[in-house]
Amino acid sequence: MNQIFRQSQLFAFLLIFFFISPIIAEQGASKKIVIDSAMTFTEATAGTKAPKKVLDSLILLTVDYYSYDGKLHRGQLLINKAVEKDIRSVFNLICEIRFPVKKVIPIVKYNWDDDASMADNNTSAFNYRNIAGTDRLSNHSFGRAVDLNPFSNPVIHLDGSVNPKGAKYNKNFPGTLRESDQIVKKFEGLGWRWGGKFKQYKDNHHFDKEG
Ligand SMILES: [Zn+2]
Repeated sequence: MNQIFRQSQLFAFLLIFFFISPIIAEQGASKKIVIDSAMTFTEATAGTKAPKKVLDSLILLTVDYYSYDGKLHRGQLLINKAVEKDIRSVFNLICEIRFPVKKVIPIVKYNWDDDASMADNNTSAFNYRNIAGTDRLSNHSFGRAVDLNPFSNPVIHLDGSVNPKGAKYNKNFPGTLRESDQIVKKFEGLGWRWGGKFKQYKDNHHFDKEG
């Protein structure tokens, strides 16, 4: 009887050790950080029309941020090597003050469709494309522009229409950019322009720095 009891105890112990403890460990890890993007460079640039020279100037930067669920997330931003230091510095502040960022995933996930990425409130940088409505290459084409929480910070045209469609610019909503905002000031201090100050239209999610 005693031996049977010991055997069942041992069985219970082994069950916990081999089956339950890895689940507990995994839950602990996922509580720490939520992975939004974990691509390779090749995956993150697949299908782009950018020439090799441009691709060679890019890096795939891993960035951490608190999302709207209050959890620490990890994403990736394709940027020009020349602005790596700036972007690290901005994301350090984003983490420090817990400025919420919805998600940061290379735009290849949206088949290079800027509208789809914006509608998903996705933060992104590199996209080899023209400035919307023009035939001039955008600073996004060189990884020198970042769009931050684009659905919360839509483009507002002179006629009042917004991009992405259906978005509202509510300055009291967390993760929204304003002139007095620390994130705007941080970018400007590093020599970046904020699209919220453009004259023709307000590109409230857009920051860029020309080379
Ligand atoms: Zn932009």
